[in-house]
Amino acid sequence: MKILVATEKPFAAAAVNGIREICRAGGHEVVLLEKYTEKGQLLKSVADADALIVRSDKVTREVVDAAGRLKIVVRAGAGYDNICLDACTERGIVVMNTPGQNSNAVAELALAMMIYMSRNCFTPGTGSELRGKKVGIQAYGNVGRLVAAKAKALGMEVMAFDPFVPAEKMSEEGVTPAETLEKMYSECNFISLHIPATAETRGSIGYDLLTRMPAGGCLVNTARKEVINEAELEKALADRTDLKYVTDIAADCQAELNEKFGKRVFATPKKMGAETAEANMNAGLAAARQIVEYFATGCTRFQVNAK
Ligand code: NAD
Repeated sequence: MKILVATEKPFAAAAVNGIREICRAGGHEVVLLEKYTEKGQLLKSVADADALIVRSDKVTREVVDAAGRLKIVVRAGAGYDNICLDACTERGIVVMNTPGQNSNAVAELALAMMIYMSRNCFTPGTGSELRGKKVGIQAYGNVGRLVAAKAKALGMEVMAFDPFVPAEKMSEEGVTPAETLEKMYSECNFISLHIPATAETRGSIGYDLLTRMPAGGCLVNTARKEVINEAELEKALADRTDLKYVTDIAADCQAELNEKFGKRVFATPKKMGAETAEANMNAGLAAARQIVEYFATGCTRFQVNAK
């Protein structure tokens, strides 16, 4: 089978070598399309691919239509909102992600962002410490759980909100389950977002939640920009001059936020949560293994679209 690795933002070279080895050992051929700049390049390359590995690359209906032989797409990462699931399902194409493979990298970045904002963006002046502060984890999945564990190690108090995770599981791990999202926002000095972008979560973080935060509250977003209501974020930052916002996914209005709110806001220049050598390796190799296993045994363990 022909496995296309299409990455606008390439994997580290060691990860690409590992992907090649795994695929070759499974009897498959790997074709690389890296740093492409036009959609046309992807449409052309995908035409004769049996499998596709992507990162944040957009697999739209147009891409699926151009991929006449495609049987499986693996998103090397957690979020799969860059893939048109309906188009894949209609064609019987399996879509998978690689859950948990880059979580540690994202969790470390979330904690780093809290420290950065607590220390005046590393400029002179008196900052504050994380120890003794309270963090609310919004979504207790792979990343959220790791942020919770690391925050506890730093001496923080941890709360979490996730309607799909039993409260007992959080309690067993030393995390206080929040009865409501509103309560968590009103009590926590930091809120760390780990919700996926879904129909329910898009635009769901806005003025009402943000202005419940205690003085000096800081919202940390390593999830997706789409979950924020940007107009309401801007209004909350304007009305509450103590609030802070730090994100790994720049807002559409980031330039305006930076200009208006200075050191109270910060966005990484390019999404970098999963940009570590370790996460590249973990997610890339997992994607290759999942494809080889699918072709060998039909295993669909990590399938995320409807069967
Ligand atoms: P995960 O699938 O392990 O966990 C997601 C959690 O969200 C689950 O526990 C689920 O129950 C919960 N959830 C779903 N809807 C919810 C809701 N409405 N309210 C509260 N909880 C809800 O995913 P993960 O690996 O922890 O990643 C979380 C998100 O982080 C991803 O969806 C992705 O968007 C983002 N992410 C960003 C980067 C980056 O580079 N910045 C890297 C990886 C993941």
